Amino acid sequence: MAITHNLGFPRIGANRELKFSLESYWKGQQSSKDLLKVAAELRRVHWQQQQKLDWLPVGDFSLYDQVLDMSLTLGNIPTRAVHDGNELESYFRAARGRSTSDVGEQHCVHAAEMTKWFDTNYHYLVPEVSADSQFTLNPSSLLTQLGEAKAQGINAKPVIIGPITYLSLCKPKDNSQALTLLDRLLPVYRELLTALQSVGVQWLQIDEPLLVTDLDKNWRDAFEKAYTYLNVSGVKILLASYFGTLEDNLTLAAALPVDGLHLDCVSNNAQGRRDARTLLAALPKDRILSLGIINGRNIWKADLNETLDWLEPLSKQLGDRLWLAPSCSLLHVPYSLNSEEELDAGVRSWLAFADEKLEELYIVGRALNEGRNAVASKLTDNAQALSSRRQSVRVINPAVRKNVAAITTSMGQRQSPYSQRAVIQSERLKLPLFPTTTIGSFPQTAEIRQLRQRHKRGELSLEQYQQYIKEEIAFCIAEQEQLGLDVLVHGEAERNDMVEYFGQQLNGYAFSQYGWVQSYGSRCVKPPILYGDISRPSGMTLEWICYAQSLTKKHVKGMLTGPVTILNWSFVRDDQPRKDSCYQLALAIREEVLDLEAAGVSIIQIDEAALREGLPLRHGEWQHYLGWAVESFRITANGVADKTQIHTHMCYSEFNDIIESIAHMDADVITIETSRSDMELLNAFDHFNYPNDIGPGVYDIHSPNIPSVESIVALMNKAEKQLPSEKLWINPDCGLKTRNWEEVLPALKNMVAAAKQLRELNNGILVDETVLLGKVTTS
Ligand code: GLN
Ligand code: ZN
Repeated sequence: MAITHNLGFPRIGANRELKFSLESYWKGQQSSKDLLKVAAELRRVHWQQQQKLDWLPVGDFSLYDQVLDMSLTLGNIPTRAVHDGNELESYFRAARGRSTSDVGEQHCVHAAEMTKWFDTNYHYLVPEVSADSQFTLNPSSLLTQLGEAKAQGINAKPVIIGPITYLSLCKPKDNSQALTLLDRLLPVYRELLTALQSVGVQWLQIDEPLLVTDLDKNWRDAFEKAYTYLNVSGVKILLASYFGTLEDNLTLAAALPVDGLHLDCVSNNAQGRRDARTLLAALPKDRILSLGIINGRNIWKADLNETLDWLEPLSKQLGDRLWLAPSCSLLHVPYSLNSEEELDAGVRSWLAFADEKLEELYIVGRALNEGRNAVASKLTDNAQALSSRRQSVRVINPAVRKNVAAITTSMGQRQSPYSQRAVIQSERLKLPLFPTTTIGSFPQTAEIRQLRQRHKRGELSLEQYQQYIKEEIAFCIAEQEQLGLDVLVHGEAERNDMVEYFGQQLNGYAFSQYGWVQSYGSRCVKPPILYGDISRPSGMTLEWICYAQSLTKKHVKGMLTGPVTILNWSFVRDDQPRKDSCYQLALAIREEVLDLEAAGVSIIQIDEAALREGLPLRHGEWQHYLGWAVESFRITANGVADKTQIHTHMCYSEFNDIIESIAHMDADVITIETSRSDMELLNAFDHFNYPNDIGPGVYDIHSPNIPSVESIVALMNKAEKQLPSEKLWINPDCGLKTRNWEEVLPALKNMVAAAKQLRELNNGILVDETVLLGKVTTS
């Protein structure tokens, strides 16, 4: 009998109950008791929803983040956050900090750093350690949840993050190596296992997604050591790998003394299945093999018949030793299609969210155990849905395919090299040394969001809505002129989101109403669904940019989101490689770029905020990804004439390892986030002579703090040590949409004042025309 189980379920709730409860608790409008009640109720409902499966995850629920939960269990909450006797408060202080403006300088607490969970868009709180870190077991949260599960008669399989993955996520606050803490950490894990055994736990799922990454000898040894040490408690361990395949770590994983292994067989279908077959031969005959057969990362229906074709022979060989599950936790997909009433019916019939994925798993389990006949009609429905998707004219657009096939490398090449373009652009744009600009968005005020809501509800006509947006644009332009910025933006008031805005105007995209996925804490995103060949029916941004330009003599940047970012922040097709979808997006945005240029727009910015986060987990795949991602950007951007200046913006913290690819994008100007790292990021430019202009951010837009003129000048002076002044622009780290005008205006005023000072400082020194290449000094 094949056994079905789940690795994790979305916790935010069908109607984002957890989000709203958390936020009202943080505002002091709800008690901790109310919040915990909501959480317990969500767990109950979610278990009920999964009840058809044989084993249900417990401990996958989290009030904020599962990595922070693990830190709590291991007694590793940063001491600055610990609030005597109040565990919940300590937990949230670690997660969110306490700002100076709320509690004063003395009591403020910095939140733990947040970063992306492997290659997903989920963010976890980075555990902090140092050479003298100590761990102590605090199993109360997990035990409470197990108690609830028991009371509800649930077949509970607790879930924790494994010691090696945990250590790999830790950030040492000193120069120590997290791995050296393993000896201190393992006894706490062992204690935890004993505690679980004493409450009758049979199976424990230990997540070690690190197993799908490149591991050096130290990390491999750590795996062996850890699982040998933990092989004592009587609790059976299911070691779960996901987000990729084991490949060269397969022998290591197979040899670990655990009771079962879970593999992701869908993220790379062919390799995953090869791994499964190899393991079948390699695993000792008492081990469980759990196969992740339903994709926990995308929203498409699985091909159940094809999955069964593959599984049936395996099932015969493995018998009871075969377990079936989604590839990873379902945290990364929306809750259910149930309430999606407005979603296009055709597209809807091709989709499966968490709820539907569990149903698929259940069907496969029954088909294996009772024969396909037992679920014949379900299998027919599935086959029909898939065939309707395959044949849909909305998915395949021959004209788009023809255009993609006709892409040539010359389409991604500017007409002249940067040095020549720079001269032409400088003559046209007449910008001063250290030109000032912003990254695109200005505050998205509550009023703007309300206008959009009212328009959506039909309370405001399109004309009225557009009129309001125009007023907002006019306001933004006037403020920027007043501030004396050099290159202006229209402010992006019309955009709810930098990806959704474009998705809504492109053919090939669909939108869910409730398809929320947790990004971090109470924050959720609703990724658009890219289902078909992409084309652009008409201009997407022209009207706004041209209106903005009509209001000022200064240059207004056209503002677009790049193809790689649109791709990486969407649910994308599984019926063609990501690369193909990216090229389609590139051609569509390229049309917009060329239209903007034809309308006389002199500067066009194409944001690629998510280019870096698309990097594969395995280094060996980086070049391939960077190849098509950078080529897509080049196709989008580089069809313009020399006189048109292309900007790109990226908000990363790590730059060094991909700087060559970034240079290859060949944008005339790149703006990046550097203020928070105190320009440390510019170290990437030590070893690499970046040829084009750069705007290193000088204003940390994640903080309400207003940077002083001196601090901006100091940052720019630092930048000048690494880059020639004539290449430097002055701008914030990122868009200003999350800030308010009261902060933004003085901050930008200081930025402009700093630019003036820097120009004065430099004017005395820089006289040589060739040095000033690309800029005209004004004084
Ligand atoms: N142009 C966008 C903005 O200013 C860029 C945002 C981003 O990089 N995340 O909001
Ligand atoms: Zn940014």
